[in-house]
Amino acid sequence: MPTENLSVLPQPFARDGGELCCEGVPLSMLCREHGTPLYVYSSRAIIESFQSLQTSAPFPLQRRVCFAVKANPNLGILSLLVKLGAGFDIVSSGELQRVIRAGGRPEDCVFSGVGKSAQELGQAVQSGVGCINVESQSELLQLSRVATSLGRVAPISMRINPDIDAKTHPYISTGLKENKFGLSIDDAHAAYRQARSLPGIRIVGVDCHIGSQITQLEPFVQATQRVLMFVDALERDGIELEHIDLGGGLGIRYRDETPPSAAEFMSTIGACVEGWLKGRVNKSRPLLMFEFGRAIVGAAGLLLTRVEVLKPGEAKNFAVVDAAMNDLMRPSLYEAWHEVISLTEKRPPPGAGEALCWDLVGPVCESGDWLARNRCLPLLAEGDFLALASAGAYGSSMASNYNSRPRPAEVVVHPDQTVELIRHREQLDSMLNDERVSSFSPVYSGAK
Ligand SMILES: *Cc1c(COP(=O)(O)O)cnc(C)c1O
Repeated sequence: MPTENLSVLPQPFARDGGELCCEGVPLSMLCREHGTPLYVYSSRAIIESFQSLQTSAPFPLQRRVCFAVKANPNLGILSLLVKLGAGFDIVSSGELQRVIRAGGRPEDCVFSGVGKSAQELGQAVQSGVGCINVESQSELLQLSRVATSLGRVAPISMRINPDIDAKTHPYISTGLKENKFGLSIDDAHAAYRQARSLPGIRIVGVDCHIGSQITQLEPFVQATQRVLMFVDALERDGIELEHIDLGGGLGIRYRDETPPSAAEFMSTIGACVEGWLKGRVNKSRPLLMFEFGRAIVGAAGLLLTRVEVLKPGEAKNFAVVDAAMNDLMRPSLYEAWHEVISLTEKRPPPGAGEALCWDLVGPVCESGDWLARNRCLPLLAEGDFLALASAGAYGSSMASNYNSRPRPAEVVVHPDQTVELIRHREQLDSMLNDERVSSFSPVYSGAK
């Protein structure tokens, strides 16, 4: 019989007397208290992942780990990372507002994104965002106009697309020349030359980000080498940088992947940087920045759900649960795998046959509305609570109201066993609040 795979869970999650707990707090208790579907996060797991990225392995340059807000923008999570001294990678004005609300400073933000509006650029410049990661010549010119009209100088970095295969899912690969992100090395070089003489622009860095859920070191090493060679080329041209931003993308274990640990990652990138520093004429020491999302919060969050209906059938056994694609979109979007773990362990009596295998599906009216397929769950019954593991990143942040379903509540469990509600379950009233009934009357306007 297949055994459950608890290896995807960080340390604060463990079984205690058959009950899956976080810091010793039974998760089924949280389900009863807060209802389901429910996102649960371990603050200790988040803190430990952040700190190991920020401090593990000696590193030849000062390093700065930013959190990619889009992975999990909840204020409860952001405020924790503010207190740890994280920087933030933002992709919209909305995310900037979140960082500020969470107590963070605009100076500690880098602003990424392939299609920033003039309004967003203006807000970023005015609030003093630390660096705007520019992705096209058009954006550079736009930013120069916006900053000049505000009487400000915008600190910039150009995002280069190093044309590297990150060997990940095509939807989350960003560093190939056919992807929409960044500029080729040649185009970026031309943009830097132009940026040097543009009003309202100050060159501070260079950045890249080659994709997400990358589980090998080699694409990172290649990207780092290309970026560092590009920095040399800029320096030969008299363009000096204060920072080099290598982006994020470090993967986690969802099933049986073996991504590099933070220490392995940092010592390997550190060695690349060390070699580069040795051969370099210029003796300035730029800051090395990273933008991790998934590697910081991915493993730290679980989505808890209740089994509503069991529908065993000829071809398939369906377990309809109360979470759906609108709560956790990754399976529908990328056929992503999340481990399914029973909150209360069930041991079949000796001699019992094979456990049935189930497709976990949601109540949404789409055949693509599934969360997991073909999972063997012994003695599964209606009313059981299940966890979908590794749902801390791109889980709640991608949630929607499709099928007019309110978005789930979210709680954080702390090492002292306190449980903080960081998002109420959405109320139907607030879900409808922005909409208006139309006053147009088709009956009197000639409509047939
Ligand atoms: C999404 C994104 C990240 C974070 O990616 P992860 O895979 O979650 O680490 C970092 N930088 C940029 C520019 C991004 O778009």
